[in-house]
Amino acid sequence: MRCQRCGKREAVVRVKLPEDMGQTEQALCEVCVREIAQQHKERRCPNCGMTRRQLLHLRKVGCANCYSFFSEEIESMIRQFQHGHSKHYGTRPEEESPERRLTQELSRLKEQLNRAVLSEEYEEADKLKRQILAVEEDLRHV
Ligand SMILES: [Zn+2]
Ligand SMILES: [Zn+2]
Repeated sequence: MRCQRCGKREAVVRVKLPEDMGQTEQALCEVCVREIAQQHKERRCPNCGMTRRQLLHLRKVGCANCYSFFSEEIESMIRQFQHGHSKHYGTRPEEESPERRLTQELSRLKEQLNRAVLSEEYEEADKLKRQILAVEEDLRHV
């Protein structure tokens, strides 16, 4: 039987994946088992000590630094939250603005995003993320 993850090598073992990876049982090759173990190794926010497992379990960050440290996990949390919700688009600045204003706007939005994530306002966070993308896009055209 081939490995269900890579589909290339021969599976050597059946493992139950951790909860946050779907909890399904898969037949895996030696290489993929090692890769999964590596991926799943506890990552810890250097600032507050929050682990990836805690973050996924509590569904909130421990400090503002967690937001950048666990950005991938948080983005997928926001995506999950958004699933089934109607889409909200941020307000995009209408006219061309000077670069400095956009840069200030950007750091203000990023601060708000941190705060929204800290207080578990994922809908708000998603809205802010769209605004940030819009501003970054604008900045490219200044
Ligand atoms: Zn494999
Ligand atoms: Zn932290």
